[in-house]
Amino acid sequence: MSDTSATFKAKSTIKSADLEHRHKINFNIARYDAVVPQGKHQFSDVHLARERAKNVKWRAIETLDQQLEEFEMNLTKRGGKVIYAENGEQALDEVLKICIEKNCKTIVKSKSMVTEEIHLNAFLEKNNIESVETDLGEYIQQLDGEAPYHIVTPAMHKSKEDVAKLFAEKLGTDPNLTPEELTLVARQLLREKYTEAQIGITGANFIISDIGGIAVTENEGNGRLSAAFPKTHIVIVGIEKVIPSMADLALFWPLLATYGTGQKITVYNTIMSGPRQRNEVDGPEEMYVILLDNGRTNILANPKQRESLYCIRCGACLNACPVYKNIGGHTYGATYSGPIGSVITPHLQGLDEYKHLSYASSLCGNCTEVCAVKINLHELLLENREEAVESGSSTFIEKAAWKGWRMAMMNRGMMNLGNGKIKNWFVNGVFKGWKKNRSDLHFSQKTFNEMWKQRLKK
Ligand code: SF4
Repeated sequence: MSDTSATFKAKSTIKSADLEHRHKINFNIARYDAVVPQGKHQFSDVHLARERAKNVKWRAIETLDQQLEEFEMNLTKRGGKVIYAENGEQALDEVLKICIEKNCKTIVKSKSMVTEEIHLNAFLEKNNIESVETDLGEYIQQLDGEAPYHIVTPAMHKSKEDVAKLFAEKLGTDPNLTPEELTLVARQLLREKYTEAQIGITGANFIISDIGGIAVTENEGNGRLSAAFPKTHIVIVGIEKVIPSMADLALFWPLLATYGTGQKITVYNTIMSGPRQRNEVDGPEEMYVILLDNGRTNILANPKQRESLYCIRCGACLNACPVYKNIGGHTYGATYSGPIGSVITPHLQGLDEYKHLSYASSLCGNCTEVCAVKINLHELLLENREEAVESGSSTFIEKAAWKGWRMAMMNRGMMNLGNGKIKNWFVNGVFKGWKKNRSDLHFSQKTFNEMWKQRLKK
């Protein structure tokens, strides 16, 4: 068993028994569940909208190279600079180069999972550059020294009392502040950082090929401030975020809002297609877009898994997953948690180390049911399991056990071997690992054949 797998199992055991954690998660997911149906009412046919979105993403991913070239050509025309990064190290090096050139000491950053993926904040800190998270949830997580817990709601596992306590400890505020008062404290502190920062870093929800722009969706306006206030704007975005046309946003913005937070449309939706132009009064003087691969082309090269690149990171599959709701986001030990994280992490970070995530699923299919772009998530999890076996990364014992199981299931004579007592002893006594978190299996005293014959005699 790999270290990551052992850690995952140990953390899962602790978290799934933590009732306070479960209460907080259920409380927050229940609020989400209450509003999503209202958001869906805006679509005359929500299934058709999801189907269309899937088709658009299919086209974008099938022509990814052309889409990215078109994006680059169009952004460059308006003065933007495009950098391709094959992996996280290259992306970090490029950010550092820009920081050194701009003599940057402070960065304001809006929420971006891709920057979590490459551990940007830790890297900047090592290089003596302050990087301040400006999304409130991310700011809370940064204050607490924790990674985001959820791809849309980073501090979902914290109650308002937890946040008040954290602010009191870290910022010396009154521990009884209300959520509104806490927000004002963060707002005050962050406003100063926008004016100090030399560079703003954002992610992007979409890369728009036909106009050479990126689209950022957020509810707090911090993304806009991070992009427009500092003189330099750096965007770091995964290459799979591409959509062919600005017109596609008419479909994707409402879908992302509804499936992400139950809104009809997110409060701030911004398209940025280059630095400030001559006739414009605000915006950064320079804009860089770092297009990150970091394992995505591994997924692209795999025709069955390619579909997972359609993901728009709405987080709906996390909220619907019975496993996520019990073990929480941090237990996965990966940037992307929940069903989509379990699908893509083994391909982004290595099948040997992360194949166990493919088993972190009951295969109930709820994730596929709720996916904004209809990704067949539970089938992809099965696919991962098959690939793990095919690539030889399953253990000898596992292989032997399944071989034996298959032989028995395919052979009526073997299935009839032994009575219920012997079977109970064998399964419950020999397979102790199976029983660790489960009650005993109780086999029928008679085999199916015996019962059938008895029935015919009557
Ligand atoms: S896989 Fe689907 S449901 Fe999950 S985050 Fe991506 S788009 Fe949303």
